Amino acid sequence: MTPSTPAQIEIRGLTKRYNRQTVLRDLSLTVADGDFCVLVGANGAGKTTLLRILATLVRPDAGEITIGQESLWQDPATRQKLGYVGHTSLFYSDLNAMENLRHYARLYGLPDAERRAAESIQAAGLAPDQAKPIRTYSRGMQQRLAIARALLHDPAVLLLDEPYTGLDPDAARWLDGLLQEWRSPGRAILLAAHRPQRLLPLATQVAWLKGGQIAEAIPVSELTDHPDLHRYLLEVI
Ligand code: ATP
Repeated sequence: MTPSTPAQIEIRGLTKRYNRQTVLRDLSLTVADGDFCVLVGANGAGKTTLLRILATLVRPDAGEITIGQESLWQDPATRQKLGYVGHTSLFYSDLNAMENLRHYARLYGLPDAERRAAESIQAAGLAPDQAKPIRTYSRGMQQRLAIARALLHDPAVLLLDEPYTGLDPDAARWLDGLLQEWRSPGRAILLAAHRPQRLLPLATQVAWLKGGQIAEAIPVSELTDHPDLHRYLLEVI
């Protein structure tokens, strides 16, 4: 690996067990710098578990993960390179959008917390609602804010778990555009989706999680050469 691949995600031999259930089994996956990888798989396949391990929210039983040249679990500073949108947004519900994002901007040590928070809220289309407490936000509004928060510190790696959940068509298009614009050299995206169809024109790679492993990881342009995955994707439309 060279310094020209600062966002490359390298996962080797990842194993995760919950009690006696092995959810991830010696799993390996590479998402190259500049790539946008869509992670697909059946309910319970382990997509959320994999993303939560990458977000350092769940500890694996074995395996090695590097982001660029840094080991994720051994070097806490690597976490700063990650932006994560999970199933639960976990905002301070009595604080408003501005107060929440300003808080996170300060946690990240951003020198211009106020401005960054304001810009992110504006981009997410939430400026008119920025003074309302988060408990009054709809699910879709919270999801927009969670996406804005994930990008606040300009991470190198974006981890998204079903990020379209709760978004209306306008917001979904906003997210399409954001992903398209955001993907660039020096960045990488790993996004779990049940229905990846809208993402295929934006993504570069599809990884299929099955039996605790990545059964296939292939460029989107080669999908039709892989009948099993292609059939699976057609089934989940
Ligand atoms: P879905 O598509 O339904 O969201 P998924 O692919 O994201 O599923 P995970 O949520 O990662 O799958 O779950 C994988 C397996 O791990 C499931 O069998 C689930 O029951 C189990 N599991 C997940 N979290 C825990 C936990 N905290 N304790 C015990 N088992 C868990």
